Amino acid sequence: MRIVKSVRGMQRLALRWKRASVRVGFVPTMGYLHAGHMSLVRRARRLVGPRGKVVVSIYVNPTQFGPGEDFSAYPRDLTKDAQACRREGVDALFAPTDAEMYPGDGRNQFSTYVTEQSLSRVMEGAARPTHFRGVTTVVVKLFNVALPDFAVFGAKDFQQSAVVRRMVRDLDIPVRIVVAPTYREPDGLAMSSRNKYLEGNLRAQAVVLWRAIQRVRVALRTRSRGVSAQQLKTDLKGFIDREPAARLDYVEFFDPETLRPMLKVTAGTHMALAVFIGQTRLIDNGRL
Ligand code: AMP
Repeated sequence: MRIVKSVRGMQRLALRWKRASVRVGFVPTMGYLHAGHMSLVRRARRLVGPRGKVVVSIYVNPTQFGPGEDFSAYPRDLTKDAQACRREGVDALFAPTDAEMYPGDGRNQFSTYVTEQSLSRVMEGAARPTHFRGVTTVVVKLFNVALPDFAVFGAKDFQQSAVVRRMVRDLDIPVRIVVAPTYREPDGLAMSSRNKYLEGNLRAQAVVLWRAIQRVRVALRTRSRGVSAQQLKTDLKGFIDREPAARLDYVEFFDPETLRPMLKVTAGTHMALAVFIGQTRLIDNGRL
C-alpha cells in the first residue's frame, strides 16, 4: 500500500490508473478508523473488482468544524489507520497536511468554496451553519485528487450523503456515489470515531439514540395511519432526558429524497437526531 501525502503525488498516481483504464473506488474519511469505515472499504473493493484500486483518504478537514467544535481534540492515529488499511488490501492511503489542502500565504489565502444551498440548510446544517460548506468543498477537492469512478459514503451521515449526491448531480461530477449501511456496535450504538470520547457510564447512555429510533419504529407498528411528528418529538425529548448526561439537540422526521420535514410520520419516513452525551455530540438516523 502506498501512503501519499501530497496532492500532486496522489493526482499523478490516479491519472496513471485512469490512463490504464483501472477503476478507482474511493472512501473519504477523517481517520481513527473503525469497523464502519472498513465496511465502506470492502464495498469499494467489491465495486471496482480485484483489478481495480481502492483509495482511502484520511484528513481531519478544518473547514467543516465550527468555532468551539472538536477540531483539535478529534482523535488521530495514522499509524494504526495505515495498518488497518493495509490489512484490508487498500491500494493507496491519501493523508495530506492542511498546507497541502488549503494552500496560501498572507496575501493569497485559499478562497474558493462549494456550497449546496438547499439540503444543507436543515438539521446538521441548521445546527452547524458552516459544516456542509466545508464538507462539499473538501469532497470536491478530494474527488479532483483521487479521480474516483466510485465514492463510498456511510448512511451514518445520511444528510451528508444526500448533500454530496446533490452536488455531484448539480455540478456534473463524473463519479458514482454509493451509500453503505450504518455499522453498529452489538447494542445498537452507531460506530463513530467520536465514541472514543465516551468515558465511564457515558458509553451506556449513548445507546439512547438507537433506542429512540427503535421506539418510533415500535410506535408505528400499531399506528398504520401514522403519528404526528410533534407528538413523537415531545415523547422523544422526555425519553432522552431520562438519561442523566443526555441532551437532545434536534430530532427530525423527513422525506429521504428532499429532506423536507414531515408533519405526519409513517413507515418509510426517515428520522435523524443529534444528542449531546456529556460534551460529545452524536448523530444517528434511520428509515422508519
Ligand atoms: P468520518 O471519518 O466520521 O468522517 O466518516 C467517513 C465516512 O465513513 C463517512 O462516509 C461516514 O458516513 C462513514 N461512516 C462513519 N461511521 C460509520 C458507520 N458506523 N457505519 C457506516 N459508515 C460510517
